[in-house]
Amino acid sequence: MASVGLKGMGVSRGIAIGRAYLLQSNQPAIAEYLLTDDELVAQEIERFNGAVLAAQAELRRIRDRIPVSIPVDIASFIDTHLLMLEDKAIASDPVKLIVQRRCNAEWALKLQRDALVNVFEQMDDPYLRTRKDDVDHVVNRILRILLNHEDKLQVSGKLAGCVIVADDLSPADTVTMQNEGVIAFVTEYGGPTSHTTILARSLGIPAVVGVRNVLRYVRHGEQLVVDGHIGVILAGMDQQDITYYRRRHADDRRQHALLRKLKTTPAVSRDGRSISLRGNVELPEDLAEMKRVGARGVGLYRTEYLFLNREELPSEEEQYEDYLKLVRALNGAPLTIRTLDLGADKALPGDRRLETRGGSAVNPALGLRAIRLCLRDAAMFKTQLRAILRVSTEGPVNLMIPMLCSVQEILQTLELIEQAKRELGREGKFFDERLPVGGMIEIPAAALSAEAMARHLDFFSIGTNDLIQYTLAADRLDTNLGHMFQATHPAVLRLIDMTIRAGHKAGIPVAMCGEMAGEPRYTRLLLGLGLREFSMQPAMIPEIKHIIQNSDIEQLTKKARRVLRLPSTVETELFVDELNAVATIAAC
Ligand code: PEP
Ligand code: MG
Repeated sequence: MASVGLKGMGVSRGIAIGRAYLLQSNQPAIAEYLLTDDELVAQEIERFNGAVLAAQAELRRIRDRIPVSIPVDIASFIDTHLLMLEDKAIASDPVKLIVQRRCNAEWALKLQRDALVNVFEQMDDPYLRTRKDDVDHVVNRILRILLNHEDKLQVSGKLAGCVIVADDLSPADTVTMQNEGVIAFVTEYGGPTSHTTILARSLGIPAVVGVRNVLRYVRHGEQLVVDGHIGVILAGMDQQDITYYRRRHADDRRQHALLRKLKTTPAVSRDGRSISLRGNVELPEDLAEMKRVGARGVGLYRTEYLFLNREELPSEEEQYEDYLKLVRALNGAPLTIRTLDLGADKALPGDRRLETRGGSAVNPALGLRAIRLCLRDAAMFKTQLRAILRVSTEGPVNLMIPMLCSVQEILQTLELIEQAKRELGREGKFFDERLPVGGMIEIPAAALSAEAMARHLDFFSIGTNDLIQYTLAADRLDTNLGHMFQATHPAVLRLIDMTIRAGHKAGIPVAMCGEMAGEPRYTRLLLGLGLREFSMQPAMIPEIKHIIQNSDIEQLTKKARRVLRLPSTVETELFVDELNAVATIAAC
């Protein structure tokens, strides 16, 4: 077998075989020296200012050439980097250091970067902590200019067919690479939400991130296999290995072509049961992906983005217009709007709405967030409820409450909805009197109270991202705990089962909208446990549909419940293997 195998996190699926193109962008080595007279100080300041201007010009050029196909969040990061280049902390504080310490420009910039990165690293907020990468990207661009290093990407034009191997990719790198024919990405840093991941998924090419020391083990130009399914890269292979992976690569492509064909076929199992497959949407732009895969209906619309990156709250009208755009685009397919889930992983640093209400800075995941925050700020919440109620006359809309922990929260929310209805009625505005109101089951307490909650709700949706986090006390964003974030931990499976059964007993639909719903490995297990509605990243819909079409749900139902008696994740995972293997053999 292959002589070197490195493990990381597979964040975009598929297999690629190609030559490694090494990009080491972080922290170029720099000389540090003192300036002996005032004239040298003046020259150094001029050199620094010139480099900042050149970096701004470079980024502007990249921004002006952003292809329309680039994901919006990457494009907006370029703007953020431009703003950072104009900020005093980067554009003028190093000049002060040159004057005060009489040090060369690179050294001054490095000192300033270390100070800024240090501030970011001290922060509790995981989102803010990751912003130190942005400081690095911006500072490295200036350093490269100061050091007269070429921007490899600007001059290469030779990336077609290559596997990019880098420590990290900046948003500008990813924009530059968009149309270069790169076949895979491998990075030392990064996680499921990094720029590399977003770009790889939008290009539909494999990516493995978080591969420690990859730049030490891989040589420029050597042949690599990237397996995005299991997050592994292989180097130094013999001909036999290469032939094996070429075959897998071809199988992969055939599978892709097959999945594209599934676009218009219904999600019906072999024994004739119809399963609902919907998309998770964060931005109205995500609807393009829904269309590409032929998805109908949104099972989770995360409304937070309208509230982020701004000082004032969005007005009722703005929210209404936003929802209306989606309802119209969905053209009769259902839209489940989740009310504001601000806080913890969905908060911006220094968000005054959280701070002024005494949000927990020490433990934001357990703090004043989501429905807790909304119930505390009834005026803000009611504005959103009114917008949702108003749009409910335009198409099939559902309202979904996140992070429920008690029946009391449901009752309070229902009371606010009633108040909003009365207000709208008085104002002569229309709404759907029977707007379905559901709740997310993503805290163990909610799963354990599911029977009581079901009496007051029209549907459940299981949020496994948080349910796993809270059940196993494993921070969903902490890459050090990846091995502990187990969807099939016996405790998690029991909570899922409890929720499904409580929903069925009460006669209300139970969906799942956490990442587990879009994980093909668990589709059969969830079908066997009685789940009939799945909502996921739209790109996963064809593959999940394919599995459903090749599953016999009656058979799965007979077998699956045995998993609930297994004592450990090792055994539940083996059980999943068995369930999938048996179903695959039966389908042959
Ligand atoms: C979840 O927690 O599983 C979920 C779908 O919500 P979010 O990922 O937005 O917290
Ligand atoms: Mg959640």
